[in-house]
Amino acid sequence: MILDSMLYADVILPLPLSGTFTYALPDAIAGKVQVGCRLTVPFGSRKTYSAIVSCLHDRKPDGYVVKEALQLLDDYPILLPAQLRIWQWISDYYLCPIGAVYKAALPSGLKEEDDESGYKPKLAQYVSLTDEYYSEPKLLSLFVELKRSPKQCALMLKYLDMSKVSAAIKLNNRQLLVEVEKQELLKASDASTTIFNALVERGVLTLYEKKVDRLVHEELPTEMVLHQLSNAQQRAFEQINTQFQTNDVCLLHGVTSSGKTEVYIHLINQVLQSGRQVLYLLPEIVLTTQLVNRLKRVFGGHLGVYHSKYSDAERVEIWQKQLSDKPYDIIVGVRSSIFLPFKNLGLVIVDEEHETSFKQQDPAPRYHARNVALVLARMMGAKTLLGTATPSLETYYNCKHGKYGLVELFERYQQVNLPEIQTVNIAEERRKKMMSGPFTSVLLADMRKALDNGEQVILFQNRRGFAPSVECHTCGWVPKCPNCDVSLTYHKRLNHVTCHYCGFSAPLAAKCPNCEDTNLSTIGYGTERIEDFIKEIFPEARVARMDLDTTRSRQAYEKILSDFQHARTDILVGTQMVTKGLDFDRVSVVGILNADTMLNMPDFRSYEHAFQMMSQVAGRAGRRSKQGRVILQTKTPDLPVVHQVVRNDYLSLYNDQCEERQTFHYPPFCRLIYIYMKHRYESTLNGLAYEMASLLRQVFGQRVLGPDTPPVGRVQSLFIRKLVLKVEFGANMGEVRNRLRQIQDYYQKQDKYKSANIYFDVDPV
Ligand code: ADP
Ligand code: ZN
Ligand code: ZN
Repeated sequence: MILDSMLYADVILPLPLSGTFTYALPDAIAGKVQVGCRLTVPFGSRKTYSAIVSCLHDRKPDGYVVKEALQLLDDYPILLPAQLRIWQWISDYYLCPIGAVYKAALPSGLKEEDDESGYKPKLAQYVSLTDEYYSEPKLLSLFVELKRSPKQCALMLKYLDMSKVSAAIKLNNRQLLVEVEKQELLKASDASTTIFNALVERGVLTLYEKKVDRLVHEELPTEMVLHQLSNAQQRAFEQINTQFQTNDVCLLHGVTSSGKTEVYIHLINQVLQSGRQVLYLLPEIVLTTQLVNRLKRVFGGHLGVYHSKYSDAERVEIWQKQLSDKPYDIIVGVRSSIFLPFKNLGLVIVDEEHETSFKQQDPAPRYHARNVALVLARMMGAKTLLGTATPSLETYYNCKHGKYGLVELFERYQQVNLPEIQTVNIAEERRKKMMSGPFTSVLLADMRKALDNGEQVILFQNRRGFAPSVECHTCGWVPKCPNCDVSLTYHKRLNHVTCHYCGFSAPLAAKCPNCEDTNLSTIGYGTERIEDFIKEIFPEARVARMDLDTTRSRQAYEKILSDFQHARTDILVGTQMVTKGLDFDRVSVVGILNADTMLNMPDFRSYEHAFQMMSQVAGRAGRRSKQGRVILQTKTPDLPVVHQVVRNDYLSLYNDQCEERQTFHYPPFCRLIYIYMKHRYESTLNGLAYEMASLLRQVFGQRVLGPDTPPVGRVQSLFIRKLVLKVEFGANMGEVRNRLRQIQDYYQKQDKYKSANIYFDVDPV
């Protein structure tokens, strides 16, 4: 019997396709391919992709002609086995193609379709002395020859100085040589390339290329400088360690400014001493230079930062470094850093664990980085510490029901008082004609006092732009997005109206297209308009605005923060960006301009999120020197949730919300899966939505709600419908997911629904 000795590789393609694809391995590479390596493979009629090997075997697939892989791109796997398992888990749990996980996981330099645009190491040119001139007599005669070429002579002298060649020759030890980069040499000797080339032509100097690291290597501090923990912090630190003896997961519930970060630092130090690695996850927006510098002061070169605003090349190099035998011991990073290779993970810290930006919304994989981190840690035998001042309901529920350990830190560092929060009724002040634009008289008075004392103010308004909407005074016409079902936001600086969903933008019409009236008025207040108001009321104050529009670049964002930090600005106006983990010294007043926009969000989590946002922004007040003041403006001062914010009463919020969620059957009392459908034609979409709803009901019965049109029912010219599936705990989730995949498949295969986009959002936030 002749055995078929052909070897095959199942690979994952960087395309939103489910499953793996099998390729035959040509003899030339068959022996070298390993799971986790990249192969280029042909796919479709012309394209080639770099695919990841997920499995090697000798089973020839039936029923089709197997194509051959083209090239092996790696000598060693760029994915470790645990990562492939995490990819598989994400694809399975979040009901999305594994190819989509591949796309999200790797920096683009590692997944390009052809090598041309892929990652290239950065090369630099270095100078060396040719062997012919590597001797004392030769060099002496050279300088005699160069007498009439003073510029070449000067360059050579500089080279000898920089390279330490003379010493190396004298002591006959090439190890004394210092590498000299061409650019640096030219700069140092103020010479031109022509002069340099003349020496190359003489056969004195030559060039060689060398890969340079984009990662800047810093000196490791010789001694780690750890702050001494306060008594309360020390207690929390010890309790966390105790919890970790019996729990894999622990929540550190600590009020703002209690020193959670200091506790993390001590834990990281402890894990490092034991020779294991740490992943420190943060929401994008909190990952500031402020925090990174704080950590670098302690951990220096042990720390790597992985950020979506870093260049792709830098991210590739961090990736490669983590695979090397000298990986960073600590990675501080955003959502996507859960995909980095870790060889020896000991601890994951998820700071601000309640943040919804840990959940990726679009495109797939719609994963929650906190939850993936928990799974990753479990797979690798690591512990997870969640930290926040305002836990998500799910996390706190898990603590209360013994799934996670809980440690509390309710004392601010140096016993600074939590801010005093005062609610002011907008409706009442409006009736009494006491409002100035979006400001109540109470807030204005406090702002004035703060400015007079040389203190700072933060104003929080959860809307960017000048005004959320424009309206014709006469006929009520409102400019709408042509692609989405939303009214356009007016941006005064650009004099444009803009869609915040699809990016559509157009100049504001001079008159109403309906009735030709030129009297168009703006409705509501965005951050831009608030900035204008302040400039009018406090012309002497220096105002900065922080929202998506002013922070397109990382530099702009950092500048706004550092200007405020160093008191170069007095008032900071912003969207939820100003609510996050920032640490300022001189802020005495925080104004929440309109709590109602948050409280009225059409979502079962609106109170939870409003509480979190308001408590977080309140925490920015009075951090060090004295108690701060928070003015909370609302039309509904009597809502229990408003009282809970005022009293900083998380437990009461938690109890109220749990009761409601239990009654109406929402997480944490069940699992939610949203099923979205999108289509260009509304009638086709309606047909699909109703058919799918009825099929789902046959399978899942009363667990299905909808179809509904979401609050924004059309985005980028696609109509949207949504079905909700509520699954009780204890149900066989594997089975549920299989059924959902089958149903999705069934409709996507039908001619009339082929062009529909059907996808899932598992555990939506
Ligand atoms: P949190 O993360 O809980 O908001 P931080 O860790 O940022 O609190 O601490 C708030 C401020 O207090 C920071 O400026 C921090 O440097 C300082 N701080 C907290 N604990 C200590 C400590 N043990 N020693 C010195 N400074 C501390
Ligand atoms: Zn009109
Ligand atoms: Zn739009």
